[in-house]
Amino acid sequence: MLRGAVPLGRIAGVRIYAHWSLVATLGLIASLLATAILPQEVSGYSTVEYWLTGIVTATLFLVSLAAHELAHSIVALRHGVAVERITLWLLGGMSELSDEPPDPRADLRIAIVGPLTSFAIGFASLGLAYGIHSVAGSLFTAAIAWLGSVNVILAIFNLLPGAPLDGGRVLRAILWRRSGDRLRAMTSAARSGRVLGMGLILIGLAEALMLGSLGGLWLMLLGWFLRTAANVELMNASMRHKLGDAKVEEAMTTSPVVAPADWTVEHFLRATVSGSHHRLFPVVDGQGLPNGVVSLADLSRVPPESRSTTSVGSIARALPAPAYAHRDDLLATVATKVILRPGLDLVAVVDDSRLTGIVTATDLVHACDRTALGLYVRRRSSNLSPQWPPPEEQGQ
Ligand SMILES: [Zn+2]
Repeated sequence: MLRGAVPLGRIAGVRIYAHWSLVATLGLIASLLATAILPQEVSGYSTVEYWLTGIVTATLFLVSLAAHELAHSIVALRHGVAVERITLWLLGGMSELSDEPPDPRADLRIAIVGPLTSFAIGFASLGLAYGIHSVAGSLFTAAIAWLGSVNVILAIFNLLPGAPLDGGRVLRAILWRRSGDRLRAMTSAARSGRVLGMGLILIGLAEALMLGSLGGLWLMLLGWFLRTAANVELMNASMRHKLGDAKVEEAMTTSPVVAPADWTVEHFLRATVSGSHHRLFPVVDGQGLPNGVVSLADLSRVPPESRSTTSVGSIARALPAPAYAHRDDLLATVATKVILRPGLDLVAVVDDSRLTGIVTATDLVHACDRTALGLYVRRRSSNLSPQWPPPEEQGQ
């Protein structure tokens, strides 16, 4: 999830978040509507009415973006694909799915329903504007007509055949169905997304230079975003190629060295850190469940005179939801999460309400190197105290 996103609520079991950058989008669209897009020569409307119409229409546009994302999420849930959340931000909406679609048919349905929703909202709004244009004021009909056409444009843009756009997912589903090879389909769709992103950047650049239009800069921004996201998709596919079906338990460090939250920094440094070669430690509560992570850098920020009064728990960084995994999860999925979130440096493996291991970036590099050599990814143990649970309870 983007940093700085606030929860808006829950619809059909899906949590919806808004990023602060959405305020900029709302303001920009509302002001463009009030001062440029809505017909300016209509008499009988005050500036306040123009701005009110602009703000309401811009808000409705954001609602239609949320509807597009919600459609993806609801169909995903129906196909058994868990949905983490929907985030609305500067460039639109994002549905964050926790799993991959199980088959090409589900992949296609989840992808296509978003643009179909935008088309439906678009044509319904255009029809409404056409139907009432002789009855209602022209400012009102112009606003609804704008909302309709922008949703149709949005649907068409999203259908461009490059991942991570919806059209790229459609392309992936079709290639996946044809070849039976999901990874190859994913790689092709992501390559197409990179080309598309570059194309948008070039068209935007030409528009900005030749017409001096701000819309060109907007296209360049969209193209850059698409290219970056397509690169992440390519990385995801290459992780799958490298790690195959390896499970988390094959690569995790078992019995990790932990930092009890209620220990003081001084005690932890003396009892654990001094005899350990680790840089990162999962922080556990009284039950041995991980709830944070502390690094040597975090510890070094505590001044020596405060070490005996500062608890490890108070300086720990909280673990976000994607930082938890089960031992039988796919290692490639965990690897992609770590790549996608630069701030995420440790994944806690929790099974039956206890910490069974951790996966760090080093573990992932190690796993990739081993599979490249044709070796099995093998479990490693750090064998350093303190451990959780204590060794006598481990039954090994
Ligand atoms: Zn979509």
